[in-house]
Amino acid sequence: MEVKETGRLLAPAGQLFEDFTRLNPELIAEDDDLGSDFDVCIGRLENRDLIRRLSFGDYVLLQPELLDAYASALVIAAKNEPDGLGSISEDRALSGHFHVPEEERIGDHKQEQLLLHATVEELVRYDLALRESAADGRYLVFPSQFNRDYAEAPDPPGKAVAVTFEGPTQSIYATLAVRLGHSQLFETARTEMWRNAVIFTARAGGKCGIYLQEVGEGRGRVLLFFEGATEETRFHFEEYVVAHINRRALFGSMQLVRLFVCKNCNTPVPDTYVELLREQGKHLFSCPCGGAVIIADPKEMLARRYPSLVESMDQAADRQRDFEAFVLSANAETHSSRLSSGQATSASLWRSSSRMWSIRQLWASAWVMNACTRSARVILRRAVSSSRSTRGTKSARSATA
Ligand SMILES: [Zn+2]
Repeated sequence: MEVKETGRLLAPAGQLFEDFTRLNPELIAEDDDLGSDFDVCIGRLENRDLIRRLSFGDYVLLQPELLDAYASALVIAAKNEPDGLGSISEDRALSGHFHVPEEERIGDHKQEQLLLHATVEELVRYDLALRESAADGRYLVFPSQFNRDYAEAPDPPGKAVAVTFEGPTQSIYATLAVRLGHSQLFETARTEMWRNAVIFTARAGGKCGIYLQEVGEGRGRVLLFFEGATEETRFHFEEYVVAHINRRALFGSMQLVRLFVCKNCNTPVPDTYVELLREQGKHLFSCPCGGAVIIADPKEMLARRYPSLVESMDQAADRQRDFEAFVLSANAETHSSRLSSGQATSASLWRSSSRMWSIRQLWASAWVMNACTRSARVILRRAVSSSRSTRGTKSARSATA
């Protein structure tokens, strides 16, 4: 804590430990496992958000609020790109070629490099960014930061289901887009994303889309729409969206309304008619055009027909995200050893425990998921509040904490 208060940004954990034992030599005799106890203390400080262990280079970030500051600056930079594609080239992100408020910009270039790597890794680890390979390089894509509007909104053709919920709408939407894109069953690209809509191509064929409407403070409505997708594909898509929203929205706030459309004249059946007919035990709507629309909820029947893939889609999304984060971390490891060569610490034990840390993180998906929701909220709220006012970013973190 004393080192943190000096304002120092980063320190190798091994060096912190060495400094600690030099200042408190009597403790070495008293505690024969001082190294592990020190590690536990570092973990406790991290749990209180006072420091952050980086997954590479054995580093401890002593001013973790800077990581949030850089993350929101990066997200805003992606939003402000003239192409409106909510993305920024990974090279630009990692080299810091984007606007960071002067009072938050780190003067030391080497240290900034390490923080930039940690920032990008963190955004990927929290399901807030997709990494996309394009012809001109790799991009970090932020589904909630697109500027262009989806032309078919708010009435996309093929809409079939509306899911309403209360909670952090933007982070629920962004993480849903990223996780669906990593689910192995569906994929998407920047060209298929808009401010509030994403279209996925199903591996099994056809298109599945989500469209987000924010209907009030902390209230959202996600419309699902389909084109050329089979009943089974639609079932898995809907089930995953519902599971994702249910998990992250306020408990009990999610509601699903199935939209029925007359295949003959393409007109949606009004919700009130569906409700009235169902109350009378009827499952058929006679359209004025002469067509008939089945208004029975097919969910139960489909659930019997198709086994749920939510769990395996989640596992695929975790694996893909962890892989991307791991690649970034490994890059950063190379980078940090280049930067710190000549001032390496002798504590090899610390290095190995830091590697263990990243491997543990790979498997601790459940823990990561919880941390994600929390951190995604902080980062997104920060991004929103700093885009509303460019000043006062320093107080944003304490306000949201
Ligand atoms: Zn009709």
